[in-house]
Amino acid sequence: MFPTGRAVDTRLCWIDTHAHLDDAIFAPGASHSGARELARARGVALCVLPAVHRGNWPAVAALAHATGDAYALGIHPLWVPQATDADLQALDELLHQRRSDPHLVAVGEIGLDFFVPALCTPTMRLRQQQVFRAQLKLAKAHGLPVLLHVRKSADVIVKHLREVWGVTSGQALPVGQAGIAHAFNGSIEQAHALLRLGFCLGAGGAMTFESARQLRHLAATLPASAWVMETDSPDIPPQWLYATAAQRASGQHQGANTPAELPRIGAEMAALRGVAASAWARQTTANALTAVPGLQTIILNK
Ligand SMILES: [Zn+2]
Repeated sequence: MFPTGRAVDTRLCWIDTHAHLDDAIFAPGASHSGARELARARGVALCVLPAVHRGNWPAVAALAHATGDAYALGIHPLWVPQATDADLQALDELLHQRRSDPHLVAVGEIGLDFFVPALCTPTMRLRQQQVFRAQLKLAKAHGLPVLLHVRKSADVIVKHLREVWGVTSGQALPVGQAGIAHAFNGSIEQAHALLRLGFCLGAGGAMTFESARQLRHLAATLPASAWVMETDSPDIPPQWLYATAAQRASGQHQGANTPAELPRIGAEMAALRGVAASAWARQTTANALTAVPGLQTIILNK
């Protein structure tokens, strides 16, 4: 699984496979500007920074270089209403230009969001699927894995993946190089459909809530090779940062999620599975290096 020649010690390192570190709260002087360094001190060796629209591609790429992290380029479903075919053309050109950049590791964040009402009109559902398919084809053409945003859309996403990749429903692909279904929160059947297409599933703050019974069941019982860890910073706060509606009404702020929370989120998941946190760090880091092979080069150079 690892390139030969140099051993990778993954015992004490975590990979945050989904962190929007370009968010304003992480900017120099802003409320969480020290979060990346704190995360590093807690053992988060690497973050993957997904881009969300054309205007933010250069900033995400520059930030990943500055912090020694990885990045992905793509158009997020929430930005599909503003996206044009020229943006898809620009993505193709940028992926071509940057193909030799070792920090570029995936196409993302791409997918389908059938939860946000404005994206669920017939026109927008169709447009989302056009933009998603176009980006799947770009990922295939450029030989990159994808970071998937799957929200109330897992079955449709699986259908498009099978069509674009030319895979039948009975066919299973080996895990690795398809990419990551980020913040997975679907059924066991949907989990297995994505795993059979070679994806890993991203686990984060949502799994830390005791009320998330189905997700915690999947977190505890799916094969160890299925999972990678993520925070989705600054979104999806874990249970210990979450303020209820009543708490917010009484003036308590919603806690912002940062990559520094990842080791604790990982330890929660390890406890659900009955394994040591260090073993789970090692397992999920190895999984991330398999799901997104470009991460191997970055981590070897650290
Ligand atoms: Zn995201």
